[in-house]
Amino acid sequence: MEKIILAADIGGTTCKLGIFDEQLERIEKWSIKTDTSDVTGYALLENVYESFVEHVDNSEFAFSDVLGVGIGIPGPVNFETGEVNGAVNLYWKETVNVREIFQQFVDCPVYVDNDANVAALGEKHKGAGHGADDVVAITLGTGLGGGIISNGEIVHGHNGSGAEIGHFRVDHDQRFKCNCGKSGCIETVASATGVVNLVNFYYPKLTFKSSILQLIKDNEVTAKAVFDAAKAGDQFCIFITERVANYIAYLCSIISVTSNPKYIVLGGGMSTAGLILIENIKTEYHNLTFTPAQQGTEIVQAKLGNDAGITGAAGLIYTYIIEKEGVK
Ligand SMILES: [Zn+2]
Repeated sequence: MEKIILAADIGGTTCKLGIFDEQLERIEKWSIKTDTSDVTGYALLENVYESFVEHVDNSEFAFSDVLGVGIGIPGPVNFETGEVNGAVNLYWKETVNVREIFQQFVDCPVYVDNDANVAALGEKHKGAGHGADDVVAITLGTGLGGGIISNGEIVHGHNGSGAEIGHFRVDHDQRFKCNCGKSGCIETVASATGVVNLVNFYYPKLTFKSSILQLIKDNEVTAKAVFDAAKAGDQFCIFITERVANYIAYLCSIISVTSNPKYIVLGGGMSTAGLILIENIKTEYHNLTFTPAQQGTEIVQAKLGNDAGITGAAGLIYTYIIEKEGVK
C-alpha cells in the first residue's frame, strides 16, 4: 500500500496544509486559520493535527498510512531537536518544541525546519532546482531570506543559523538599521524594504528627474514601482535597480565560491515584480564571480510561489526518510 506524507507550512495568519505521496506529488492541499491565542504553540499544533485527521479520514488513505509529518515554521529552528527559539509572527516568545508537541499526537516521525529552508527544499525537488543536489534559494520579499541545499541536504550549521543570508553585511557604511539589531545587512538594501531605503537615501542627493517623484514625496514608493519605472527607462530607477542587483549579485558570488550551487533560485514578490532586476543580477554575477565557480550555475526564477513551503515541508520526509533511509 502506498504511504503518504503530511505537510504543514505555518504562517502568521494561515497554515497551509497538504497531503503528498511517496514521490512527493501533491494529492491535496488546503489551509486553516493560524491560532495565535496560545503562546505555548499547543493549540495551533493541535488544530493542525485535527485538520490532518479530518482530511485523511475523508481520503482513500488511513492515518496508519502516514510515513511522516513535515512542518515549516517562521522562526529559528533547531533541526536536531525540533525546538523553535521564538517566532515573532506566531507570538511565541519562549522556546517551543514543535516536534515534542506534535509527537504527542502521532506515532510517525515528525521533522521541523525553518520556513526559508523548507521553501528551498521545495524548489529543489519540485521547482526551479530540477532535483539538483546543490541548490540555493533566495527569497526577496519584505525581508531577504534563504536556504542552502548542499550535497542534497539542508545546511543548518552548528546552531541552526546556516543560510541566514539576509544578515550578511554588504553596506559597509551601515546606513540602515536592520531588524536583527545590527546595521548594513543585505536585507536593508536589497529587499522590498531595502529598495525604499535606497530611494529615500539617494533621491535628495541626485539630480535625476524621476517619474516616481510624487510617490517619493507621498512616502508611497514600492519596489514594484521602482522596477516598472526602470523598465520604462527612468534613469533614477535604473540607478536604484542596478545598486540592488549589484548587492544580490555579490551575495550570489560569495555563495558560489562557498557551496557552488547548480541553481540559484530567486523567489519572493520582488523576483516576480522585476525581471529587469534578475537580468541585472545575472550580468553583475558573471562579471564578479570566480570563473570556475560560476561555470554551469544558473540564476533562475522560483517556480512554486506560495506552494514552495508545503512542498518543502513534505520534502523533509522525502529527503530524510525516503531518500536517505530508503524507507518505503
Ligand atoms: Zn540583520
